Amino acid sequence: MLEFRREGIYCVPGQFYIDPWLPVDYAIITHAHSDHARIGMKKYLCHKFTEPILRLRLGADIKVQTVNYNEELSINAVKVSLHPAGHIIGSAQVRIEYKGKVTVVSGDFKIQDDGLSTPFEPIKCHDFITESTFGLPIYNWLEVNQINQNLVEWVLNNKEKGINSIIIGYALGKAQRIMNAVKDISVPYVHYAISKINNSFLEIGIQLPAYQTIDFQNKPKDMQGEVIIVPPSLFGSTMLKGIPRSFTAICSGWMQVRGARRWRSADAGFAISDHADWTGLLKAVKESNAERVYVTHGFKSELSRYLNEIGIESHEITTQFGVEEEIDEVINEEKS
Ligand SMILES: [Zn+2]
Ligand SMILES: [Zn+2]
Repeated sequence: MLEFRREGIYCVPGQFYIDPWLPVDYAIITHAHSDHARIGMKKYLCHKFTEPILRLRLGADIKVQTVNYNEELSINAVKVSLHPAGHIIGSAQVRIEYKGKVTVVSGDFKIQDDGLSTPFEPIKCHDFITESTFGLPIYNWLEVNQINQNLVEWVLNNKEKGINSIIIGYALGKAQRIMNAVKDISVPYVHYAISKINNSFLEIGIQLPAYQTIDFQNKPKDMQGEVIIVPPSLFGSTMLKGIPRSFTAICSGWMQVRGARRWRSADAGFAISDHADWTGLLKAVKESNAERVYVTHGFKSELSRYLNEIGIESHEITTQFGVEEEIDEVINEEKS
């Protein structure tokens, strides 16, 4: 039913692509991170919560059709529905059914309930296409409450000494989670790139914790014991150096293993991730009941090999997902 083409993942009978990376006529979009939602498609289909972010990032004039979770569409005799992926607000797994065969494309997902996104729902299928961003046994997350508590304690510790807490997290997804984690102890300042996304969510009625947009020109000098949330592209920037007496923390699943050279100079790291950890990936694969699993971006050979070893037929596929979300997302966003 699916072909892995130069343009992206293609549903042959349905004549649509899922998260294509080259321009095509019809694209179903799992979520609005820039490695999954690209410019140049004639028509987009996505969850209704994804639409405002898609327009913000790709242009107000793009052609978008929206659906709710579990709403069934028929596209060229293929049954199509979107189901919660728990990755970020509006993120979806795509279920496609044709002649009794069901395939699910997970997009990016996590099993943990982050308190903002609609929680992940396992969908039974014959073929399951999974991401594998953190597909190694060393990646296992703490409970959401516990990791949030760790972050809160770090902030409170800084606050006591009048030190500002700069927290680095992706503008779409992570930033809102950080706002949620600190909501009882702070009305955080956020970078403009984050408040643009927050506004898009607020406009369609999604509730977010209180925040304020930082004015880098005037405000930083007299800040004391505040929380400032900024995207990764600002790490080490002169803009942040204008904030007096501050410690910097990075929120990313990669913080579980403090290897990445770029982040080593941070004062703290919290393994808060919007992707499934090793246990979560295995749980999703098993609960899908799939006969065949296709593994995409991340540690795909490691996860695929393990699945084959435990008797689940698994194949690696090459896609162009995974790169921008980790590094370039915000840089692209600021250019547009
Ligand atoms: Zn993503
Ligand atoms: Zn991704």
